[in-house]
Order: sequence, then C-alpha cells, then structure tokens
Amino acid sequence: MPDRTLRVCALYPDLMNIYADRGNLLLLERRCTWRGMGFELVGVGLGEEIDPDAHDLLYLGGGQDRDQQLVAADLATRKRDAVHAHAARGGAILAVCGGYQLLGHSYELADERVPGVGLLDLETVRHDGPRLIGNVAIEVDLPGTGGPRVLAGFENHGGRTHLGPGVRPLGRVLKGHGNTGSSGHEGAVQGAVVGTYLHGPLLPKNAWFADWLVRQALALDVGLPPLDDALEDAAHAGARTAAGL
Ligand code: GLN
Repeated sequence: MPDRTLRVCALYPDLMNIYADRGNLLLLERRCTWRGMGFELVGVGLGEEIDPDAHDLLYLGGGQDRDQQLVAADLATRKRDAVHAHAARGGAILAVCGGYQLLGHSYELADERVPGVGLLDLETVRHDGPRLIGNVAIEVDLPGTGGPRVLAGFENHGGRTHLGPGVRPLGRVLKGHGNTGSSGHEGAVQGAVVGTYLHGPLLPKNAWFADWLVRQALALDVGLPPLDDALEDAAHAGARTAAGL
C-alpha cells in the first residue's frame, strides 16, 4: 500500500499526554513505515486552528484535570467546528481518558463545569469516591474485525463517564472498571470516532485495533498487509495477563 499516507493531527500533544499516550503515535508511524506507507504528523496546540479536511486521524491523549481545564475552552470554541466537520466527513478520531472525556458534552468537577466539544453523547462527572485505577480488559465487536476481540490496557481516572442514548459503548468490561466502575461498559464509539479510558499505551498493546483504526481513517475496504506481530502479540498477551484474563 505504498501510495497511501496516513495524515495524523495530534491535539495538544504537550498538555494531553500521560502514561506514555504518545506511544500510540509512534506505533502508527512504525506500522505505516513497515508497510511502505507514508506517515505525516502535525501537532496543534492552544490557539491554533485545525484544517478539517487535512487529516485522516485526530488524536487526543489523556491529561490531568488541570491540563484538561486548560485545553477544554480552546477545544470547545476555536476547534469545535473543525472537529465536528472532520468527523462528519468520516475522519477518524482516537481520544484517550482525559481526551475521551472532552469529546463529550462536559466534565463536571466539584466547582466547575469544564466544557466538552460535544461530539459524543456523553458526560463525565468527577466523583468523590476512589479513582478507578488498574489494568483493564474489554471485549469489543467492531465492524470488519471478524467478531469480538479483546482490548487490554491500563486505566486511572477520577471521572465517571455516563453515555447518552446517542452513542454506544466501545466495549464490555471483562476486567477492571470502565466508564463508571459499575455500568459494565468501557469507552464509546460512533463510526470512526473512538473514546476510551485505556492507556498502556493502547495501540502498541493492541496492534489489531491500531490496524482497524488506520482502515477507518483511510476508508479502506481491504485489509492491511500483515506484519510480523510477534512482539505486539507478546505485549497484548502480557496486558491481558496483567488484567487477570
Ligand atoms: N483527569 C481525568 C480524570 O481523572 C482524566 C485522567 C486521565 O487522562 N488519566 O478523570
């Protein structure tokens, strides 16, 4: 597939990047290179515009509450229309943890309601109870992946995310906490827009999902050429075992 280039835009790469979330971008870059495909990465920060037609994938990592507060106003105002336009034309989005929360309507803290970009029908409330921390495994059933598959990773969040009727969960919690600790659901998906609490980083531990995402981003109806995934398979197996599967 040498004629294809994956064009990725990382939103707030300096502020929204914890638990090695940047590793998701490295994984995408390597897998494109190994397949002879092009890979372009731009970072867009506070105060900068996004071109809604220029990227195949928007990426937003996790962040502490204070970093989320910094980016939220910018995302929900200056970038809102472009993010919606990108998604409306079928562009893919991957958002992790704090980034996932900001795809929804709002993130409610004790004394502040942090605005989301309103792309997914969900809202997050900061809970007084314990943070939801630990290794996690979920079962997901995405179109074109041949049936249910497992995503394994690590979660650490104080927010509880409640899904509205307009969005469906990314997966069913097998081990760990997920969106609220009690709903049995993890993440959210709407077409090629995915939000999840799974750090890890997510993609190196779940290479099959990275390939699914690339196919969505490039609107490919054929599979990607196989790679030697011995190391990635070992990372996935380790993450599953860590989660207690
Ligand atoms: N600050 C958010 C929370 O605690 C997200 C944390 C994260 O991205 N790991 O819920």
